[in-house]
Amino acid sequence: MKMANNDPATFLFNALKAKKLISSDRLDFFRDIVLLQHRIKKKLHKAHPPLNLSDEFISKHIRKGCPLISGNNLPLDERILDELLQDLLTIVQQHDSSTGEEIANIGFAHRNGDINPAVLVGRLLAQDSRYFKFLSKAIGVRWDLLVYMSLSLAKPFLEHLSSLFNDKIDDSFWLKNSCPVCGSLAHIARLDKEDGKRLLYCQLCSGKWHFARIKCAFCCNADAKNLKIMEETEGPYRVDLCDQCGRYIKTFVERKAIDVSEEFIPLMEDLATTYLDILAEQEGYERSFFSPPEAEPCQVPGDSEFFH
Ligand SMILES: [Zn+2]
Ligand SMILES: [Zn+2]
Repeated sequence: MKMANNDPATFLFNALKAKKLISSDRLDFFRDIVLLQHRIKKKLHKAHPPLNLSDEFISKHIRKGCPLISGNNLPLDERILDELLQDLLTIVQQHDSSTGEEIANIGFAHRNGDINPAVLVGRLLAQDSRYFKFLSKAIGVRWDLLVYMSLSLAKPFLEHLSSLFNDKIDDSFWLKNSCPVCGSLAHIARLDKEDGKRLLYCQLCSGKWHFARIKCAFCCNADAKNLKIMEETEGPYRVDLCDQCGRYIKTFVERKAIDVSEEFIPLMEDLATTYLDILAEQEGYERSFFSPPEAEPCQVPGDSEFFH
């Protein structure tokens, strides 16, 4: 998908709308969220004090298997976070009036101090699904809406930092299924046409890293009899399914694409292939921000199975 110089997000969303693959209301919602996050990222580029990570810090963390950013060193500007939360609440309510009561509950809990946007981001980075379940009950808001709001709050901050550090990472020392920048899981994958290597794209910071080709990107199951593939008859996508954890990931197969010269923008690819999510969900597989409970412990560098 090609980027226009003046207003890339609007251009891409209009192009997607013309294809009529998903409803125009849904696209308008995502466009407004992306435009808001772009506005916040511009502010961060100007005003946010960048995190100063030396090459030595980066190399040491990656070799130890620790992501570069955690709740401990993530710089968050609380004023910008509060502004972002207010604008997110407005957009969600504008596009989905059925959320009115829940949006009011979030606003009330924020004013009361029961919700702190920085804590939401920190708990999300810590993969603390129990916190979101607890909060959901405490303030009367569906937990998936709370997770979505938290993800949308965290995204501009993490994408800003990922744009600074992702290219400095030598991912041949990183064998994990989680992002080397922020530790989150992937939301889309890509198979390289030349060498067949598999790249995962982070659902939170949009960073990318290499990962073993025949392995679940969520629970790390490598037993081929529990891994399935659902191929498109036409088109470059397939869906990788895992019967061990019940998760799936959409994969762009470059060698099946007619033109791979266009820029690969994970969010737009994800939206353009919503029909595959529907198919996977009909087959009983799901997506989730959090690691499945049965996920294997992370591996240590030196494993010879890399890039199989
Ligand atoms: Zn990430
Ligand atoms: Zn799995």
